[in-house]
Amino acid sequence: MFELNDDVKEIRDWVHEFAEKEIRPQAEYYDETEETPWPVLKKAAEVGIYSLDFWAQTFGEPSGLQLPVVTEELFWGDAGIALSIQGTLLGVTGILGNGTPEQLAEWAPKCFGTPDDLKMACWCMTEPQAGSDVGSLRTRAVRDGDEWILNGTKVFITNGGSADVHVVVATVDPELRHRGQATFIVPKGTPGLSQGKKEKKLGIRASHTAEVVFEDVRIPMEYLLGGPDKLNAKLDRARSGQSTGRSGGLSTLESTRPAVAAQALGVARAAYEFALQYAMEREQFGHPIIENQAIAFKLADMAADIDAARLLTWRAATMARNGRPFRHAEGSMAKLKASETAVRVTEQAVQILGGYGYIREFPVERYYRDAKIFTIYEGTSEIQRLVISRALKASLDR
Ligand SMILES: Cc1cc2nc3c(=O)[nH]c(=O)nc-3n(C[C@H](O)[C@H](O)[C@H](O)COP(=O)(O)OP(=O)(O)OC[C@H]3O[C@@H](n4cnc5c(N)ncnc54)[C@H](O)[C@@H]3O)c2cc1C
Repeated sequence: MFELNDDVKEIRDWVHEFAEKEIRPQAEYYDETEETPWPVLKKAAEVGIYSLDFWAQTFGEPSGLQLPVVTEELFWGDAGIALSIQGTLLGVTGILGNGTPEQLAEWAPKCFGTPDDLKMACWCMTEPQAGSDVGSLRTRAVRDGDEWILNGTKVFITNGGSADVHVVVATVDPELRHRGQATFIVPKGTPGLSQGKKEKKLGIRASHTAEVVFEDVRIPMEYLLGGPDKLNAKLDRARSGQSTGRSGGLSTLESTRPAVAAQALGVARAAYEFALQYAMEREQFGHPIIENQAIAFKLADMAADIDAARLLTWRAATMARNGRPFRHAEGSMAKLKASETAVRVTEQAVQILGGYGYIREFPVERYYRDAKIFTIYEGTSEIQRLVISRALKASLDR
């Protein structure tokens, strides 16, 4: 049984209050306009939620539960606005996972900035021909003396182009697939870096998603995360067949999966809570619709599914924080279950509201659109099943 300690409960309540007072009232506006919610980010920075200190403390909290708990609260407020906050975190996690401590110390503060000078970061991996198959990335990094030259196009990048710090996975040796990849920092304003098409989306519309184009982008050697010696050693190992087979890109995704599960939980819980309240108040045939077993059972399934997904998420988050091995791909299990729960629960919430669930005046319409992304980004449901089934097979082979 998981028990939140008093410190985590206090932080959860503080983030919940921010989500309720500052995020929720803005959700409809930013969903309609698809603008980046800078004023909400500024408020989040002023209170300390959009800050390196807060997220470092959250990642470092010993139980591991603060990360899923605060993520769930932010996404309960609104998924698009919350993703504008956590998109930066994805970039920072990329630096944490691949960079040296000195690089982390230099770049992580530049990813958030200050309340008066907000900054953003992004994580650039996906390409037009390389989504699930990240080993086939074509963005090329070529060394030229003490510099690197990057060429290629990334797609579907959260905060892409508008970010101040782009954390970019590129291939140094395409034949080695993911073992020939390296991760680089490309700051905003670097000649040759530009934003391509801004996407119009089904949901999470407050979050900026765009193509990022690299045309003869020259960056100094120091912007290679981990440094040249580590990269050369990795390439040598791969060429002699000794590599562990893990790329920087893949390890970043593994460590962020419990957090994505918690994002999905936030949206699922918001939809469930709204539908429950509605079912108690809406009357048809002379009594509240919750008195129909058909409706009450839907709510029972929704509540049970959310609790089950949360338990998987908290288990994976605790394991990640304590460095326990993911023998059965527990992070992927959490992401798979929570994301599919969010899709199912939000669909049922629309059904419980009937016609009112289908119109924009009621938030479940937005929750339904927002929920779908969780089965797609940071590894689709099919890829999670692939990862889990491989882990199961490996555990039998041991
Ligand atoms: C809103 C949004 C934000 C995003 N943010 C970022 C970001 O910040 N940074 C970033 O790098 N990327 C980002 N992505 C990209 C996202 O991670 C990819 O879209 C996702 O990994 C899937 O890749 P794909 O779209 O190319 O689909 P594909 O890989 O082409 O998959 C298409 C379908 O085929 C299935 N499939 C593929 N391979 C297999 C297989 N081996 N077995 C079974 N089924 C398979 C998939 O599950 C899927 O159903 C974002 C995407 C969106 C939509």
